[in-house]
Amino acid sequence: MSEDRKSIKKFVCPSCFAREIDVIQMHYDEEDDEYYCPRCAYAGNREQVEYFFKVLREERYKQMREPHPFAKL
Ligand SMILES: [Zn+2]
Repeated sequence: MSEDRKSIKKFVCPSCFAREIDVIQMHYDEEDDEYYCPRCAYAGNREQVEYFFKVLREERYKQMREPHPFAKL
């Protein structure tokens, strides 16, 4: 086990990303072991952020499989 505990994964804010505002990198709070977004105040630990992105990816994927609305015309 030589995992570097100091290597902190960087995340962009999934909440801003979901709303397609400018993608902004979250700040990491070492004391709380939490990430937070300085713009929308979304905060969560690493698992929560990763879960948020997982859900987002699944949503995007579902939308991509739907035919484009104009394709039916
Ligand atoms: Zn945000």
